[in-house]
Amino acid sequence: MKPLPPDELAEKKRLVKFITQNLEATYGIPSNTSFDDPLDELIGTILSQSTTNINSHRAFASLKKRFPDWESVRQARPESIATAIQSGGLANVKSVVIKNVLNEILERRGNLDLSFLKTLPIDEARSFLTSLKGVGPKTAACVLLFSCQKPLFPMDTHIFRITRRLGLLPEKINDQLAHELMETLIPPRKHYSLHINLIAHGRKICHPHSPKCEQCSLIEQCDYGKGFV
Ligand code: SF4
Repeated sequence: MKPLPPDELAEKKRLVKFITQNLEATYGIPSNTSFDDPLDELIGTILSQSTTNINSHRAFASLKKRFPDWESVRQARPESIATAIQSGGLANVKSVVIKNVLNEILERRGNLDLSFLKTLPIDEARSFLTSLKGVGPKTAACVLLFSCQKPLFPMDTHIFRITRRLGLLPEKINDQLAHELMETLIPPRKHYSLHINLIAHGRKICHPHSPKCEQCSLIEQCDYGKGFV
């Protein structure tokens, strides 16, 4: 990605610091309660696509209950995996993605252990994950942030909407570049906090339609929101 001019970079970093501090004052500083195991996190994130947290957690628990380990899932027929994850939606698609991902990991690594990602440089770890079919920048960032404590920043629909409204992202930017840009702007050790708090903010205040800008702690820095009050 082309680097931002120094003035623009400094201004965006200042804005991200302001957002991080204000959201922590509003919602608190969240602690990471995700899976320790990167492969659990990877499968859990695949299951979370296009569904609610409750449904994806249910699907993950059902998958773990039905199969004793990931090797058994790898060897299972996609139809059996789909039955186990039915509650998470798109079961036929996700079952194939999960099986393919497990096969690819085994083929390349010789086992189903992803803990090597924890000590790999960020770019190599990200490249490994995004080279797996069906794993995009957001899923890779979830695994590396939540399970490996690396300073990556998964961006969901709430985060894209809010960061665009606040002028951090241009209207047109692809997923990969958006992730890379945001990662460079976030203060050290604040990636997890900002990720969780922006999602909370999107659910409670900065709605897609009729955002509650009059209640928003970010209003003084949001030209988009000033048009609503
Ligand atoms: S001021 Fe409005 S548009 Fe801006 S971040 Fe807050 S809720 Fe969203």
